[in-house]
Amino acid sequence: MIQNLLQTPIEYLKGVGPNRAEVLKKELNIQSYRDLINFFPNRYIDKTGFYKVAQLQRNSSEVQIVGKIVHMKMVEQKRGKRLVADFVDDTGKIELIWFRGHKWIKENLKLNTPYVIFGKTNWYNGTFSMPHPEMELVADYKRNLRPAMQPVYPSTEMLQKKGITNRVIMKLMQAVLQQTGLKFSESLSSSLGKELKLISKAEALFNIHFPKNQELLAKAQFRLKFEELFFIQLQLLRKNMLHKQKIKGFNFDQIGDHFNHFYNDYLPFDLTNAQKRVIKEIRSDMGSGAQMNRLLQGDVGSGKTIVALMSMLIALDNKFQACLMAPTEILSIQHYNGLKELCEKLDLNIYLLTGSTKTAMRREIHEKLENGEIDILIGTHALLEDKVKFHNLGLAVIDEQHRFGVAQRAKLWKKNHIPPHVLVMTATPIPRTLAMSLYGDLDISVIDELPPGRKPVKTVHRYDSNRLKVFAFIRDEIKKGRQVYIVYPLIQESEKMDYKDLMDGYESIAREFPDNQISIVHGQMKPADKDYEMDRFVRAETEIMVATTVIEVGVNVPNASVMIIESAERFGLSQLHQLRGRVGRGAEQSFCILMTGHKLSNDSKTRLETMTGTNDGFEIAEVDLKLRGPGDLMGTQQSGVLNLKIADIVKDNSILQTARFYASKILKEDPNLSKEENLAIKNAYARLVKNKTIWNYIS
Ligand code: ADP
Ligand code: MG
Repeated sequence: MIQNLLQTPIEYLKGVGPNRAEVLKKELNIQSYRDLINFFPNRYIDKTGFYKVAQLQRNSSEVQIVGKIVHMKMVEQKRGKRLVADFVDDTGKIELIWFRGHKWIKENLKLNTPYVIFGKTNWYNGTFSMPHPEMELVADYKRNLRPAMQPVYPSTEMLQKKGITNRVIMKLMQAVLQQTGLKFSESLSSSLGKELKLISKAEALFNIHFPKNQELLAKAQFRLKFEELFFIQLQLLRKNMLHKQKIKGFNFDQIGDHFNHFYNDYLPFDLTNAQKRVIKEIRSDMGSGAQMNRLLQGDVGSGKTIVALMSMLIALDNKFQACLMAPTEILSIQHYNGLKELCEKLDLNIYLLTGSTKTAMRREIHEKLENGEIDILIGTHALLEDKVKFHNLGLAVIDEQHRFGVAQRAKLWKKNHIPPHVLVMTATPIPRTLAMSLYGDLDISVIDELPPGRKPVKTVHRYDSNRLKVFAFIRDEIKKGRQVYIVYPLIQESEKMDYKDLMDGYESIAREFPDNQISIVHGQMKPADKDYEMDRFVRAETEIMVATTVIEVGVNVPNASVMIIESAERFGLSQLHQLRGRVGRGAEQSFCILMTGHKLSNDSKTRLETMTGTNDGFEIAEVDLKLRGPGDLMGTQQSGVLNLKIADIVKDNSILQTARFYASKILKEDPNLSKEENLAIKNAYARLVKNKTIWNYIS
């Protein structure tokens, strides 16, 4: 019954009505009683203490003061009038100011009578003032019961305009809590409650809105955050579990000629321990009988390609085909060339398919793919076309995952009657916390070690005014035989302007370096021209590569040792880190120079300081997550991961770990939640799924 009551449309709540209901729906997506109860304050006002006027600080925080109005006057302004009152206590005077509602205030406020006032103070011209204070007669204040701590709810301009103030929301909240009688069904098991010393659901919901004290507030917050994260983890883990049970995969139990031959005779270097570990994980996954769905995270240059290759060789050893999909043409070509070289002596049929593959070649590929002659197909989105049919695709590797959408991943799956194993590789380090929430349904492998002998890239920040020195530095490096990248920002909204920036840049570089060969690559070029230019740089025919961020992903030119990033303040952290990853691939000391003007926002400064301070992609990702919040991190936008009501993936990391631990424990003991003990969890879970309160993740 309580469930039915909670479904009640919000307009039926006392004090709401059709007009307010419309605003609540539109502005806050509050449709039902349940939605209202789950609309949580974002902070609390602690009115347990009082200030004296003499104690006020110029920090414009909210304070509560006891005193009297001794004088009121109207002051004419350019735009309308304001009502100003002198308010005094025994230590000094402040001004109370009203811009609206003058008539009511003049008629109702009493002079020389003690009031408790509350509000934000401003300091201007030697006086403190408080605009639109909350006021209550001391006599009333003493008589009324009140929560020691007051909730402050998130608001919007429209809510304010329509008079749905914080006070109104509080009243509605009181009404809905009264009407539902706090009879909320428990959603967690009693053993969980005991083990984590959780307060009940009803107590938590009451105290999140009207905390009796700080301690109960903390308990309410913990309980609700835990619950929110617990159910998300439960869903992800359950999905992963069902996936493994249901989705049969090819069983790659053979490690045969290709793999061993390559490993023993042609591996160009010793694998790092991290690479060995990850290959083992992949091997055991693909031999488990279930379909592999694995995310491989490794910082730029950590050597993911060789892992991909060796995984594909396992597929070939089991008489299957493999494919490798990359987000850009340049990158596909580079993978193609790189893998061909590595496999030169292995007698494999490796083909490249991109948007610019010629029709005749395309036909040949389609045919050879279907009759099984092609062992490994490398390419771009072109692999996803319906015409591309495999004889028996056993493993699909996707490089630089965030460039591909969910739908595309799904499409690859459908290339077979049984879905192939899928290995998704990303160089955008995703903080563990986020990875857990975002890709909780994927298994994760991490290469957390760079190949030996890498010198960390030296990163500096230089102002545009020092450009001549930077040019001199470039000249010196080129003299030593090195190559240089100069990158300009690309912002989608104003491609034209970026193009102009790039061209201006190119011209000034050309003037500055008349004796050098310069390549230019940007998004508006034809793929063939792009490749031609890129190729010249790879073959060291040009010394300088002027480009937009198209080179961001994956390109490997070990001889390039300088990365200049123009207008670096316009790049996000992960992008800067990716770009920097283009250098530092050879044996020489490499440099990254971040160029900016003098005007920088605080966030930009933090980004630049982070880049000059560390080379660790995971550390950078954590800062990025903190600066931008998870909502903006690449690829997370569409996933809906951020509709969290109360928990914060960054700040509540430890609660997340706890939630994951218990969710996994419970699922292990009771995979279908069929035990009596877990009935509350089962019901709550079913309700959340039905109401789509838990969103659908990437899958
Ligand atoms: P990413 O993870 O960024 O894709 P790559 O696979 O392109 O990195 O590898 C970067 C460079 O490091 C390549 O030139 C590759 O040959 C080299 N490399 C990879 N693994 C090792 C290793 N274990 N020892 C030495 N060099 C390695
Ligand atoms: Mg790579």
